[in-house]
Amino acid sequence: MAKLSTRITSITGGGSDGWEVFNRARQMIAAGETVTELTQGEHDILTDDSILDAMHRSARSGQTGYALVPGVPALRDAVAARVQARTGVPTSADNVLITPGGQSALFAAHMAACSPGDTALYIDPYYATYPGTIRAASAKPVAIQTRARDAFLPDPEAINAAAQTHAARSLLVNSPNNPTGSVYPRESIEQIAKSCVDNDMWLISDEVYDTQIWKGAHLSPRALPEMADRTFVVGSLSKSHAMTGSRIGWIIGPKPAIDCMIDLATSTTYGVPGYIQDAALFALAQGDALEEQIATPFRRRRTLVLDVLSEQNTVTAIPSNGAMYTMLDIRATGLSGFDFAQALLTEHKIAVMPGESFGTSAAGHIRVALTVADDKLAASVRTICQFAEQLTQGRSNAT
Ligand code: PMP
Repeated sequence: MAKLSTRITSITGGGSDGWEVFNRARQMIAAGETVTELTQGEHDILTDDSILDAMHRSARSGQTGYALVPGVPALRDAVAARVQARTGVPTSADNVLITPGGQSALFAAHMAACSPGDTALYIDPYYATYPGTIRAASAKPVAIQTRARDAFLPDPEAINAAAQTHAARSLLVNSPNNPTGSVYPRESIEQIAKSCVDNDMWLISDEVYDTQIWKGAHLSPRALPEMADRTFVVGSLSKSHAMTGSRIGWIIGPKPAIDCMIDLATSTTYGVPGYIQDAALFALAQGDALEEQIATPFRRRRTLVLDVLSEQNTVTAIPSNGAMYTMLDIRATGLSGFDFAQALLTEHKIAVMPGESFGTSAAGHIRVALTVADDKLAASVRTICQFAEQLTQGRSNAT
């Protein structure tokens, strides 16, 4: 084989990809075992029939050819109107690029913000694709550590120090947060915005969970003074409308930046299928009611997990304030998140994500996706707590 580029061979950064437990669970399922999967952020419902009908109608009416690369005008208008209504920031179709999912928008944002070799900052724990996405854009990922005792909120001093040391060009934040369930309070968002202004960085705000708020309020940093010209907002219908497989999302930013990203889309994705865009338009037109309906089971289950945790003292958690996950602290067992997750899968056939899959800040934690029926989730979390208790007792007996 001819030699591959260093850009493409270094996307993963080497080492573990963090998906070992997930992959092992899938192998067990393929071998006929029953495993409770609390790993991926995939809803336990399918895309609503009414959205699929809209997709079908659109395809049958002829929207199967090339669609406009920036997105069909009606969808760009609808996304702009949604963003303006929710943030108060004047937003038009010129500020919107429709993308095949939030993931593609994250890549486009880093391509726009960073020249090759520039540093892009992101907050640890992080959504697993972040460092690879930054490397794919030929930039250098630098993580800002956070601490469980600070609810995994970033320290502005740490952001400023990293920005200055590396002359960073961008900072990527995600609230509501995957994997921690943190929702950044206003003060934190204001500090982040100030760091970006003071250090002349782009702020890339991943808001794909903006409809899943259990406590507090979502504040988009683009709405703060001086921020509209230096913020890219990443949005998606994956989580808000249970449309993960449709690959539909967007990026919001200043018009000159969007124009450049349209050039990028022309040379990469060449747009999103017209019938998917029409389905997205239909989904957005259903308004808050459908979004609330999709978020409701996770809101209920997040409370249910807190109730189960309150029955014991071994496993603790920072209450999930948003997004479809809860991060459990299992440090009392003395095990890493990874070893705990592997043992849990072996002993109890429950699959969770080790905290270490999301960086170093969440070591000794496991992420539980709230994506199975309530009773099954409650039973699983109870088993996790009992298992942690046994391990903790075994540990104190041994010492
Ligand atoms: N950001 C975060 C924080 C996510 O959790 C995900 C998906 N799990 C994405 C972005 C990408 O979502 P999609 O490409 O499906 O829109």
